[in-house]
Amino acid sequence: DITETNGHFVFCDVSFGYEKELILQGISFEAKPGESVAFVGHTGAGKSTIINLIARFYNYDKGNLTLDGIDMKQITRSSLRSHMGFVLQDAILFHDTIRENIRYGKLAATDEEVIQAAKDANAHDFIMRLPNGYDTVLDQSGSGISQGQKQLLAIARAFISKPSILVLDEATSNIDTITELKIQQALERLMEGRTSFIIAHRLNTIQQADKIILLENGKIKEQGNHKEL
Ligand code: ATP
Ligand code: MG
Repeated sequence: DITETNGHFVFCDVSFGYEKELILQGISFEAKPGESVAFVGHTGAGKSTIINLIARFYNYDKGNLTLDGIDMKQITRSSLRSHMGFVLQDAILFHDTIRENIRYGKLAATDEEVIQAAKDANAHDFIMRLPNGYDTVLDQSGSGISQGQKQLLAIARAFISKPSILVLDEATSNIDTITELKIQQALERLMEGRTSFIIAHRLNTIQQADKIILLENGKIKEQGNHKEL
């Protein structure tokens, strides 16, 4: 088990296939502690598959993948995930209050910590405008709040768990400009000092990443920052 992590990932000639056919081939890159890495590429290029290896939803097949110099296969899934925060396109919500939905990121969190996380995530204002505020009960699909507001809750949940490693899958659609801006600001704040992996769709996010990795057909076509590419 790992009790702490610097969030230093090294992919060295990594290959992986869900079945016999290799989906990722010869993937080599490094994410230094605190860096942000944006994955771009067409549908089916392998972006989600790389994330699956980073979160160890699957084990890589060939090459070498280490976190802080330790082989990923040696790190238990639970200890890895305890250092990881996820902000995915569809936030996983529970049939419970907004307060508890945020607290899910850290079950021991106090009400004050929940509110602070919501503030950090730019979610506090919209929550306070709801008739029942933090006591608003959500259903699993989050009906009654917008797609963008669901993202803000997912960000609040990530703030409260204070992960060293972040995995972000940017939402693409149905978000108004103002909420979009709030999400972007909150994500920038969240990513500060954390190793972040982003499946990026917005140009702005891509421009700000420390490293952009362009995937094509399961291989890295190019990598570098926005100025270099
Ligand atoms: P998108 O932009 O559509 O999300 P992506 O870049 O995330 O695409 P992946 O989901 O990583 O692409 O898929 C890469 C390849 O792996 C595709 O050919 C896909 O069909 C295949 N694939 C993805 N998930 C699985 C799975 N669970 N089992 C078998 N093959 C899979
Ligand atoms: Mg994908």
